[in-house]
Amino acid sequence: MGDIAVVGGGVIGLTCALRLAEAGHRVEVVADRAPGDTVSAVAGGLWFPYLAAPADAVLRWARESLDRFAELAAMPTTGVFWREGIVLHRADDPDLAWTAVVPDCRAARPDELPEGVASGVVCSVPVVDTAAYLGWLAARCARVGVAFRRAHVVRPADLPQPTVVVAAGLASGVLVGDPTLEPVRGQVVRLANPGLTRWVVDDDNPAGMAYAIPRGHDVVCGGTADRGESGTAHDPDVERAVLDRVVALVPELRGVPVVSRAVGLRPVRPSVRLDRVTVAGQALVSCYGHGGSGVTLSWGCAADVVGLAGP
Ligand SMILES: Cc1cc2nc3c(=O)[nH]c(=O)nc-3n(C[C@H](O)[C@H](O)[C@H](O)COP(=O)(O)OP(=O)(O)OC[C@H]3O[C@@H](n4cnc5c(N)ncnc54)[C@H](O)[C@@H]3O)c2cc1C
Repeated sequence: MGDIAVVGGGVIGLTCALRLAEAGHRVEVVADRAPGDTVSAVAGGLWFPYLAAPADAVLRWARESLDRFAELAAMPTTGVFWREGIVLHRADDPDLAWTAVVPDCRAARPDELPEGVASGVVCSVPVVDTAAYLGWLAARCARVGVAFRRAHVVRPADLPQPTVVVAAGLASGVLVGDPTLEPVRGQVVRLANPGLTRWVVDDDNPAGMAYAIPRGHDVVCGGTADRGESGTAHDPDVERAVLDRVVALVPELRGVPVVSRAVGLRPVRPSVRLDRVTVAGQALVSCYGHGGSGVTLSWGCAADVVGLAGP
């Protein structure tokens, strides 16, 4: 098995590195940020396909990840939980394609729906405490021999490995000359968890998208999805509006203390890039552009990367 460099130490880079090392490759992760400083660490961590295409491949990757997360949820130190929650729909024709890969979906009962909400789907899916999970992934990588180097890569050609996996999220475009990636800004506020386990997603909320995702000690409250916005400064007005929407859905969260806040830029592309090209004798495997679904698609995409990397 060959030497492989993985550029990127977010959820995509680390999952690819782990799968490649488990397949027998000698792997080095090169990243310019610690896992806790990545967009992946900002993610709410709900398994749910959002802002990612193409639809067929997304469902396949999401299903594979769902199976893997189900195993990890049974292990106490992974940061992965298996939690019931509800996706609210305010439109008449919601996109329910994702329900095909979730085993126990059911229509929400009228008493489970807030006023003004037409319908909803209740189901159990993985919920990932991303900070804890990235730590677990990095430790798992180290245990199977993955090497780590903190460095900023300017060009894949500067790396000595014959195969380079480009998993640098939003920065991947610069590395491989792809102008189609764009940021979609998201802001979250994390509240101390008063004992909730049930998550709620209300994407069609006319006042703006809203979600509350209880993990272990915190509840991630969001959100926003500002296309083309690349500022990462926290906006207190946005936070107030997010909390108003969330508290309207989950009154138990009124007045609960803030634990932390974060802003991240989702790496959105017309479709996830997952392919292999050869440039001046070096194999470049691209794996980026996961939009609002990097956690959700991580294991499925990493499996494809192993196939593309070859022996
Ligand atoms: C508010 C918000 C909520 C979200 N909620 C969810 C959710 O509930 N579920 C879900 O599935 N997804 C969610 N997402 C989306 C998810 O966070 C992203 O899809 C995912 O983090 C992308 O992972 P990545 O590893 O590709 O990129 P990143 O996490 O951004 O990691 C990129 C890595 O590349 C490295 N890097 C970049 N450039 C270079 C360079 N030149 N040289 C060396 N290293 C480099 C960085 O150091 C970093 O390690 C959310 C996103 C946001 C912003």
